[in-house]
Amino acid sequence: MSGVRFDTIIVGAGSAGCVLANRLSADPARRVCLVEAGPRDRSPLIHIPAGLLATLPTRHMNWAFQTVPQAGLGGRRGYQPRGRTLGGSSSVNAMIYMRGHRADYDGWAALGNPGWSYADVLPVFRRSEDQQRGADEFHGTGGELTVSDLATPVAAARAFVDCALGAGLAANRDFNGASQDGAGLYQVTQRRGRRCSAAVAFLDPALARPNLTVLTGRHATRIVLEGGAASGIEVEGPGGTARIDAAREVILSAGVFGSPQLLLLSGIGPREELARHGIAQRQELPGVGANLTDHVDLALVYRSSDPRLMGITLRTALRAVPGYFAWRWRGTGLLTTNFAEAGAFLRTRAGLDRPDVQLHFVNGLVDDHARRLHYGYGISCHVAVLRPKSRGTVRLRSGNPREAPAIDPNFLAEDEDVATLVAGVKRARDIMEGAPLAPHRGAELFADGDGDDALVARIRRRADTIYHPVGSCRMGRDDMAVVDASLRVHGVEGLSVVDASVMPAIVSGNTNAPTIMIAEKAALARTA
Ligand SMILES: Cc1cc2nc3c(=O)[nH]c(=O)nc-3n(C[C@H](O)[C@H](O)[C@H](O)COP(=O)(O)OP(=O)(O)OC[C@H]3O[C@@H](n4cnc5c(N)ncnc54)[C@H](O)[C@@H]3O)c2cc1C
Repeated sequence: MSGVRFDTIIVGAGSAGCVLANRLSADPARRVCLVEAGPRDRSPLIHIPAGLLATLPTRHMNWAFQTVPQAGLGGRRGYQPRGRTLGGSSSVNAMIYMRGHRADYDGWAALGNPGWSYADVLPVFRRSEDQQRGADEFHGTGGELTVSDLATPVAAARAFVDCALGAGLAANRDFNGASQDGAGLYQVTQRRGRRCSAAVAFLDPALARPNLTVLTGRHATRIVLEGGAASGIEVEGPGGTARIDAAREVILSAGVFGSPQLLLLSGIGPREELARHGIAQRQELPGVGANLTDHVDLALVYRSSDPRLMGITLRTALRAVPGYFAWRWRGTGLLTTNFAEAGAFLRTRAGLDRPDVQLHFVNGLVDDHARRLHYGYGISCHVAVLRPKSRGTVRLRSGNPREAPAIDPNFLAEDEDVATLVAGVKRARDIMEGAPLAPHRGAELFADGDGDDALVARIRRRADTIYHPVGSCRMGRDDMAVVDASLRVHGVEGLSVVDASVMPAIVSGNTNAPTIMIAEKAALARTA
């Protein structure tokens, strides 16, 4: 690639990178290069929604990171899957379409980020969206990202919702509408039963543009800095090391772990951290890699004898054969499951301005991110703390760009997070043990004792992420901010970060749609 000069280089073809590639290359005069470490997204395990069961626990299209030992998790290492292919994590995620609470965005604006209030971002969410239920005040149609109801939710998911209503929660048909509280089936980023990843939605329609170059299998190792400005990147790929030049801007969209790692490798970060690895400092930015925030989660797990659920059984394997044709021809059937089919948002105590716990009801028996499989059927309920107080870090293990970063979510460091999780688990158990789920529910697994101490012990033994790490290059204008409200890196010309890492505070919900919105907004600012 040496000698080729682009206007804009985007590093990372994930949720954010694919949106940017589409929007920025819509201007035929702008030469855009999208660089992705992983391969093309050809694996059927990406496009068949139930393929998630294979990608989640393995290294197939997945960086499959480990955290450093977590004191709050009894010294265990957490698991951090991340997509490693076109579409990034949107190619391996659970496809739930969720924006978070309106107060999250008003909070971002109040932290000193003009343009990010709910009123500002709602039209941006609507712009990307093709809502299969039709447009309304909250939803758009005609956008690239298809948002639909699940084709074939299992009966147990509907029973979960009935249980939640029985436990006093409100029915909620649209968590992205007027109110977030309550229980309902989740909407998914699927188009006719196929995964609608950011690559399918945004990149595929732009691939034929002559001014867009997509390079896969290229691992960005460093940002090239000249006189305080970014002028390109270095990549390692099939032909060895190469340099790619950018006349206007380098945009890091390498995700919550990749983007801070690249900044640090390039000498942009906290002085001591760079010195520790012998990296010459180019720009002092103490906030790079700080503020890592993630939704800590515990799953309640029950056996089941309901053969309509997804299970590790001969019967499920036999059903997968007609299921494959139902998926292929009609976009329906058991292979269209996103597993986390239903859920709820609830408040564990009075006086909160929005829900503090999210539940994901799962069609399946969840143990250790499906890294441990159990023969038979099951149902599970994930309980996640929506706005944890604990903050962690992303640091370098070494100056070797091929070495995974040191990820420390610092789970459950704050007692308040433990208390919220305990309260949420109790509410979830009330719901899971409701009458409508009785025909689907067998014995609970991994439970030993009912008191708070036993519950805390179980949390330390079994809790982990629900896959929403954010905030490691957060926006703002204080000393610990990494990017400004237009997502440009403080103190470095021609360099931006646009992905989940810029969130100044974690959203109260799943993070794919918010990341797509962030990239839409960054693109609008760069094309206006
Ligand atoms: C298992 C799982 C389930 C999830 N479920 C949901 C869900 O149901 N709903 C939801 O809303 N959210 C979900 N999420 C979260 C959501 O998918 C992510 O928050 C979102 O995709 C993050 O987007 P991003 O652009 O920040 O990063 P990513 O999409 O992770 O993209 C980063 C890209 O950069 C590439 N990259 C990294 N480093 C380099 C480098 N050095 N050089 C070149 N390329 C590089 C990566 O390979 C990747 O393609 C889930 C995530 C996971 C992992």
